[in-house]
Amino acid sequence: MSETLFTKIINREIPADIIYEDDLSLAFRDINPQAPVHFLVIPKQAIATINDIAESEREIVGHLYLVAAKLAKSMGFADDGYRTVMNCNEHGGQTVFHLHLHVLAGKPMGWPPYTDKLKV
Ligand code: 5GP
Repeated sequence: MSETLFTKIINREIPADIIYEDDLSLAFRDINPQAPVHFLVIPKQAIATINDIAESEREIVGHLYLVAAKLAKSMGFADDGYRTVMNCNEHGGQTVFHLHLHVLAGKPMGWPPYTDKLKV
């Protein structure tokens, strides 16, 4: 797959507010936050979309959730709660084609998550 700006963040070619890093993943604050706390947890391995996750990559994807929970605890919002979102392709609203888990926190979230008035 072609390199995205998230690969550039991993390689420190463009700046980001990085809050966590380990061998498999990186977490950094979203440049356009949609909640008081909004960061992204991404795999260092470039996977374009949920549709592209290979069986052999299941541990990497599970790891993203473990990192989200670890950071929720260390940042103090685990008990209040939070939302994780992973958008896929056009209808899902995905704009960066490097897998990423949104973590949103710091206020009660509405449901359903979309704001349009279309009936399902
Ligand atoms: P998506 O729409 O693909 O689910 O989410 C992409 C997210 O990446 C968006 O929430 C957007 O604000 C964030 N984003 C896009 N470009 C940058 C950037 O250069 N730096 C950071 N920190 N976040 C970015």
